Amino acid sequence: MNILVINAGSSSVKAAVIDPATGARLLEMNAERLLDAPVIDFSDGTHLELSGKGPDRAIATCLEALKEKLADTELAGVGHRVVHGGEAFDRAVRIDAGVEEKIAGLAKLAPLHNPVNLRGIQAAQELFPAVDHFAVFDTAFHQSLPNRAKTYALPKALLAEHGIRRYGFHGTSHQYVAAVAAKHLGAETRDLRIITCHLGNGCSVAAIEFGRSVETSMGMTPLEGLAMGTRSGDVDPGLIRYLHEQAGLSPAALDELLNRQSGLAGLSGAGNDMRTILQRSTEGDPDCQLAVQVFTHRLRKYIGAYAAVMGGVDAIVFTGGIGENSPVIRHRAAQRLDFLGAIINEDKNHSAKLSDQAPVFDFSMQHSRVKLLAVRTDEQLAIARQCGQLIAQEDAVNTLPAIPIAISARHIHLRQETVEQLFGKGHELTVKKWLSQPGQFAAEELVTVVGPRNQIERVRVLGPVRSADQLEISRTDEFFLGIDAPIRESGKVENTPGCKLIGPAGTVDLEDGVICAWRHIHMTPEDAAVFGVKDRDIVEVAVGSGERSLVFGNVLIRVSPDYRLEMHIDTDEGNAAEINVGEKGVLRSTSSAGTLRKKRPGELVG
Ligand code: AMP
Repeated sequence: MNILVINAGSSSVKAAVIDPATGARLLEMNAERLLDAPVIDFSDGTHLELSGKGPDRAIATCLEALKEKLADTELAGVGHRVVHGGEAFDRAVRIDAGVEEKIAGLAKLAPLHNPVNLRGIQAAQELFPAVDHFAVFDTAFHQSLPNRAKTYALPKALLAEHGIRRYGFHGTSHQYVAAVAAKHLGAETRDLRIITCHLGNGCSVAAIEFGRSVETSMGMTPLEGLAMGTRSGDVDPGLIRYLHEQAGLSPAALDELLNRQSGLAGLSGAGNDMRTILQRSTEGDPDCQLAVQVFTHRLRKYIGAYAAVMGGVDAIVFTGGIGENSPVIRHRAAQRLDFLGAIINEDKNHSAKLSDQAPVFDFSMQHSRVKLLAVRTDEQLAIARQCGQLIAQEDAVNTLPAIPIAISARHIHLRQETVEQLFGKGHELTVKKWLSQPGQFAAEELVTVVGPRNQIERVRVLGPVRSADQLEISRTDEFFLGIDAPIRESGKVENTPGCKLIGPAGTVDLEDGVICAWRHIHMTPEDAAVFGVKDRDIVEVAVGSGERSLVFGNVLIRVSPDYRLEMHIDTDEGNAAEINVGEKGVLRSTSSAGTLRKKRPGELVG
């Protein structure tokens, strides 16, 4: 299968024909300086000059030249990189008129990018009308940012009216390198907390907690965060008025200043190429030295902050032109992180080189708990793969069984030792009522949970006893108790807060174990085969119909022979969705695998 991947920008068009299964590239095209003297370079060594075409026609002209080169090559689809997907897109989509309209509508959030991306899409649709076109968004991976991370502290009405929030960018790259890093470590992203540092001309950091982006340094626009090639990254917003008043800069001039004249270029006075800046700083240029210091200091600051956000980190990944190629920058960012458990191996950092054959290397000491990795990013391949997956799902149908929904009230699982401390030596939990999940029961025993602000009495203990204590509460409970608990799957209690428990025979101070349960679906391996999912996939479930219909995103699949098919949500979620007893949900899709089975030949779907 060949996918044509197109990245149409304002001054350049890049394209590649890629087999998503192997990553093999049939042809690459790189067209620079579109606005004045476009030159197209092809990977077969040929070049084309396109003088006199004018910027409006430039993208179409490049793609026409590409089409001529492709001659008889059969394409399975065309994937377009689109910078801003706003709230509308949390994954890649097949492009239709509605999608185009939404991309166009998002131009106000990305005026420099979305209109040009759209021009690329429309030009390519005219040239390649027989195949499907797909949009892959830079923002999509970060749609999982929790409210606390995506919200600016501005008046709420203003945020809502103008769609102001943090979106994050470089999502395709962050997601790709995290997956490569996890594979290299013999793990899956869903088991790791990874900080990915994409350091190219644009730079951003992401905190990827168990496979989901929970923080990232770019915000509503790509200007926030790290110091970059020509962008300032974080500045005091008070500076805007100051510069306007003191330097007489208009909004347009301020935008130009912060986006194009700042960052490494602004500080160094030597352009935005890190190679030049490093060379000059070695030769003693104080401006270049300061540029390097500001760049790496801010990067370290973000790494430390994101480790705190996730309550720890398992791997720190460096990618992008700078992250992949500069041992000096990696050294400055990653040295003295021993306190986090990350110990750099300076020899490896300086000697290892990334290549097609070695797209990842580990430059941490063997005994370093946190792995330091350099990973070659490949956004074009990531886009091709996402298109390939969408094509594979093309004929999917949803004829899956409905999933019963149950609302879990707050409850606690205890270890036998804790049971005895709370209820007396030798005490065993007594069954009050068997629950729908085989072997699970609500016990007669109740405990009082004490938080820093309040206490909640009569919290039901669920049996049988477990190997770790775990209190599962709703967000409302959290605020009432005065505890900030992470959303976790059952059993993952490391780095969670604790609380005090009071029972009739004594009290226990739990060091950890308080979680807000990740909404999940229990199912047997047989169910999983029917749904086409595997343990710990993340899916969406539609509930209700008509006006009250609602889709729960980010639903975790749990598979065990001991389970019975049932989706569990907490009381807050049940109330929000007005769920009644006996309500059922319908599985819609997964983010990690094709959920829906392929249409059988001749099958009719109503
Ligand atoms: P990208 O946007 O990912 O292509 O990255 C571009 C940036 O990578 C530019 O600032 C380059 O100067 C930088 N870069 C490429 N190679 C090196 C290198 N060997 N050392 C430092 N920076 C590099």
